[in-house]
Amino acid sequence: MMRARTRKPARKRPRSHRKEPRGRTANRYRAYPTDEQLVLVKRFGGSCRFVKNLGKEQRDLAWRYGHHSLSYTVQSKEILALRNDSECGTWLREVPAQILQQALVDLNRAYQSFFDGIAGYPQWTRYSGWYSFRDPQDVKLRVKSRRWAEVKIQGLGWMKVRYHRPMQGAGIKSATVVMEPDGKVFISVLAEFHRRQPAKPLVEDWESAVGVDRGVKVAVAAKDGLGNADLIDREMWTPGERKRLRRLEQARERKKSAREKANREIAKENKDREARGDTPLAALAKSRNQEDTERQIAALHARARRRRKDFTEQVSTMLARDHRLSAFEDLHIKSMTASARGSVDAPGKNVHQKAGLTRAILDKGWYALEHRTGEKQVRHGHLHVVVPAPGTSITCPECAHVDKESRVSQSMFVCTNCGYEAHADLNAAEVIRERGMKLALAGGTPVAAHQGTNLGPTLVGAEPGAVGAGQGCGNEETGTSAVEGAA
Ligand SMILES: [Zn+2]
Repeated sequence: MMRARTRKPARKRPRSHRKEPRGRTANRYRAYPTDEQLVLVKRFGGSCRFVKNLGKEQRDLAWRYGHHSLSYTVQSKEILALRNDSECGTWLREVPAQILQQALVDLNRAYQSFFDGIAGYPQWTRYSGWYSFRDPQDVKLRVKSRRWAEVKIQGLGWMKVRYHRPMQGAGIKSATVVMEPDGKVFISVLAEFHRRQPAKPLVEDWESAVGVDRGVKVAVAAKDGLGNADLIDREMWTPGERKRLRRLEQARERKKSAREKANREIAKENKDREARGDTPLAALAKSRNQEDTERQIAALHARARRRRKDFTEQVSTMLARDHRLSAFEDLHIKSMTASARGSVDAPGKNVHQKAGLTRAILDKGWYALEHRTGEKQVRHGHLHVVVPAPGTSITCPECAHVDKESRVSQSMFVCTNCGYEAHADLNAAEVIRERGMKLALAGGTPVAAHQGTNLGPTLVGAEPGAVGAGQGCGNEETGTSAVEGAA
């Protein structure tokens, strides 16, 4: 093309291609605030909750009565004005303006996600024993020793953190401070990192692709093409903890009903007093003892939650690091774990069993495992794919025969057609793996909307088609045969 020289410069590449794509990563550290800092953490968290709820109320009213929507810019100006108000301004003024504005930014994002159809309608932020707020600017971290570091938060100064591992990523974007119901404080420092693109075509590492089946009896069954088959599980509660939790919950109920009974009598007494014109009695508040019980319950749950998080982080790291592709089932966990009791109009069936299943699903952290593996796969330049779920546990990976009878027991799979035998969960993992490879080869055909969202194709980590030579020539029967042909 000789004319190329005189032609106007080539069309600009789309924005997303100009720079290396960036991702964000959170580094979570246990914080050890001073007594003064602890008071401020609660106060900042409480103020942010107030601002968020106020912002939501404002938006809801504006929509209901004026049919117009409020923008962040308007609300942000108003919150600054409110800080100068003589009444509630005094305690809002103690919180740095940017932290309050960040609460409105988060609220705005929640509304945006709702309008984009990827999240439900923003809810009230209720008091739940959690305090949290985000500092969006000038967060600094300095390492003091091998074990300790300090993070600078606006209005709080430097706060000591246990530096259990080096910061990932560079360029701190923000920090979120959270106080959990058991009183422990954590700081999550968000930093940017560069996403890696797949280093080589997937086909070269095809065998490392892994299928993951999530179960109730065993949390995770993972199988790849290199002969690794793992059943991974962890108990989130010890038997002693379960017993203790039951006892504490019973104590809580006992104390609660006793207090309610006493308060009913006080109310009755107050009616008589009112008639006589006497001063009424005050209602009974929660006792110190009762608050202690609630704190102990919260501490038990916090321990299980941290164990669960540790489990999902470790397993997802292992899956993402060692496997070029990870395939998960597309489980609609939200609808699976929705209340079994149903509504008055449509009462649920098998309420008791379903409640048990729900508890088990939430206990094993099914959602977090898939979500975190996907995030980490992207960071490694690997692929993550979500495949349709129906029939994975009753399909034979050898002959593709589908039969309910093949699942002979909770843990045994024996194909009624060809006699193939395997552990039921590992068999499902194998089927998921094959479906995942097929989907990746096809360039990530959209499956059913992911987790009730409309994010479209669920192949992440690369542009569709970045899977290499095998792309687009996936064999109808199995994905692998196309790869063997290409290699
Ligand atoms: Zn078979």
